[in-house]
Amino acid sequence: MSELRKDYYVPDKYVLIPNNFDQINKFSELIYNEQQTTSKTDSRECPYCPCSVEECNNLVLSFVVKEGILQRLYDTTEEENQNWAIRVFECRDPIVTSVSNHQYSDKPFYREPACGYDLIVVPTPEHNIALSELSVDQWTNLLLVLQDRVRWLYSQRGVTYVAIYASRGLNDGNKIKHPHFHITTFSAIPPIIEKEAKTFHQSMNESGSCPACDMIGTEINGPRQLFSTDNFIALVPWAPTYNYEFWICPRKHSTFFSKATQKEIKDLALVVSSSLRGMDKVLGTTDFNIAFHISPEKKNSRQLHWHLEIYPLVTSWSGLERGFGIFVNTPTPEESAKLLGEASRKELARLIGVI
Ligand SMILES: [Zn+2]
Ligand SMILES: [Zn+2]
Ligand SMILES: [Zn+2]
Repeated sequence: MSELRKDYYVPDKYVLIPNNFDQINKFSELIYNEQQTTSKTDSRECPYCPCSVEECNNLVLSFVVKEGILQRLYDTTEEENQNWAIRVFECRDPIVTSVSNHQYSDKPFYREPACGYDLIVVPTPEHNIALSELSVDQWTNLLLVLQDRVRWLYSQRGVTYVAIYASRGLNDGNKIKHPHFHITTFSAIPPIIEKEAKTFHQSMNESGSCPACDMIGTEINGPRQLFSTDNFIALVPWAPTYNYEFWICPRKHSTFFSKATQKEIKDLALVVSSSLRGMDKVLGTTDFNIAFHISPEKKNSRQLHWHLEIYPLVTSWSGLERGFGIFVNTPTPEESAKLLGEASRKELARLIGVI
């Protein structure tokens, strides 16, 4: 039974303890394999590749693209099954559990069951492609499927938060190279979202204005902007946690990612694609994480201006970062923005066919 534990006394500090022994055994195997060889899973043993029989039991949804439109497959013929564009699986090693055993305990050993859904969204049948290499159309389709799952998950009982995230590189927990996104749900709001959303709520109550809208107003066309489009801005924040960290925010106030229009999603796909390609041009194929900071839709007092945060993992942390929460930024956020901005604007121009 997976559980969430709270710190003895620090508020809003949660840890997740996945109680999945099988996975732990696999993990030590993986560490061992990692030491033996530098190559990660190849397509023959990949559970997300088109011919994988193993994973079909965990398949939740399959989509094809017909005449440029994403369509959900209900009855799959063999041929269509081969030509899928996007698939959604239940994670085979979920870190949260689907049934609760009602194991709660109180401070100082506070715990609650970590119940929820753990899904994997695979945006392409191609095994050896990087997330940054997905086409704008593939990003559009992926974002539409993520939206669809977010809507469905928030309509389910016990789902308080839907966390969407992906990684590239060794820091990806399950070491599968095939590009994929995770969607994990929680019955509690994750600590970072709680902190951000609390600030939004306070600011909206006190001054009536959204702190992200204010931030966007001052950052637009400024030294930390990578570029902006009709609907989105990509920028390096004033005080980033990671070197070269950047955010993508809707320019207009918006709390629900799931309500973004098709036009906005298309624009977002272009922005994500250009900025990730720009990042690769500057940093090479570095490891990175991407996190969607979306609102807990059912909780009115915890709405935030949704955005994406991208964390390139170019340096490791020292005791200063881990032990004190002081993050050393080299280069400066302004220099990072200049490099990432130049490269992403070029990629944007290439993608929209200007050059
Ligand atoms: Zn694969
Ligand atoms: Zn706002
Ligand atoms: Zn955020």
